[in-house]
Amino acid sequence: MNHTDPRRAIPRTDALLALPAATAARARLGEHVVRTIVHEVQQRARAGRLAPAAVPDAVAATLAERSATALRPVLNATGVVVHTNLGRAPLAPAAVEALRTASGYVDVEMDLAGGVRSARGLATRAALRDACPPAGDALVVNNGAAALVLATTALAAGREVVVSRGELIEIGAGFRLPELIAATGARLREVGATNRTHLEDYAAAIGPATGCVLKVHTSNFRIEGFTSAVGLAELARLTGAGGVALVADLGSGLLGPDPVLPDEPDAATALRAGADLVTASGDKLLGGPQAGLLLGRSDLIATLARHPLARAVRADKLTLAALEATVTGGLTPVTAALHADPARLRRRAQHLADTVGATVDAHDGRVGGGGAPGVPLAGWAVVLPEALAPLLRTGTPAVLPRVHRGRCLLDLRCVPESEDARLTAAVAAALAALAADRDGDPG
Ligand SMILES: *Cc1c(COP(=O)(O)O)cnc(C)c1O
Repeated sequence: MNHTDPRRAIPRTDALLALPAATAARARLGEHVVRTIVHEVQQRARAGRLAPAAVPDAVAATLAERSATALRPVLNATGVVVHTNLGRAPLAPAAVEALRTASGYVDVEMDLAGGVRSARGLATRAALRDACPPAGDALVVNNGAAALVLATTALAAGREVVVSRGELIEIGAGFRLPELIAATGARLREVGATNRTHLEDYAAAIGPATGCVLKVHTSNFRIEGFTSAVGLAELARLTGAGGVALVADLGSGLLGPDPVLPDEPDAATALRAGADLVTASGDKLLGGPQAGLLLGRSDLIATLARHPLARAVRADKLTLAALEATVTGGLTPVTAALHADPARLRRRAQHLADTVGATVDAHDGRVGGGGAPGVPLAGWAVVLPEALAPLLRTGTPAVLPRVHRGRCLLDLRCVPESEDARLTAAVAAALAALAADRDGDPG
């Protein structure tokens, strides 16, 4: 070690800020971010973890790596299609393109021909009506919970929401439907028992205080055994006769039936059965952006759209654009993953396994996102040592495997086939790192 302080050789801040790499980075990053990165690299050198001469290159490399968002893309190898912790639905290319278009000035609330203001998101509403013909009209809000809040507030604030005790669900992360409805100023009128609710229960509860009857899809669990529930069609005869609005919270957002998910409700079927209004999420099985959909009778949609709360939960232009493109566009990644051909999944898994020296085992994927509980999606997984999981999660690209019973499993259902080569490289790198680690080689 030199007797002069090597820290004096660390390049000065102004010199580093003048690097071409810093100038280039300013196209993406604010000055304060560039400065912070420069200071962090200098700090590493001061702490002796970086040679002073290496500082300019390290600054350039760190700036180049730093993206404007800290969110990291993840290859979802869990087999869970709508993965809440990974942002639910990955968008279709058409929706991504629409996001780009909508990112500038757009005519989201403007009639360009007339030069006057128009209603917001008309094209998205029309696209939803076209995709779900029994819907008289449609409205888009921020998420499924907001759709439910808007519906119950506009139809039942100060009055009663009649709902079966078997449908008072918690959706996840402490979001409980009864608490949500109570927060709207509507009173819950619970009917029936946890496992059984009959038409007479509803009939006895409906009266002058009823704001609406709510039917909730218990999307994340199943009650089996001695159970009974009243279907929408039966309920609709009752509410129709009483002039009471029937609202169905479907959760998943299928606009029409999907043969792969026979028990999953869809908007068209629910409306045909007699629901006056359905609510659903945009980013579950519909495969679009986070959004809440309201579909149904146009007079009710108009009432909801006029309610002051509608302004507080309205969707932004990016959501409207991506949702429209999802509905009018082709196959979404969610639909593709749900319908993935098991034989093809097996071939891809086998290829990966052969390349890295692993094995393949049968593995069921899941719908996820609180949808279709217990519906297995038959497929395959590459079987790897459990110790590989943290290396895969923190590698580049980041890969999220499923860790189950001491094994690290890679189910390719939700990995685009175009990413197979990158995934294989990530697995090979992680295996090499693991082997090096086990050999006692720290580096
Ligand atoms: C997911 C879900 C919701 C909430 O939708 P978000 O889009 O998450 O706000 C409401 N109801 C049901 C039945 C659901 O499955």
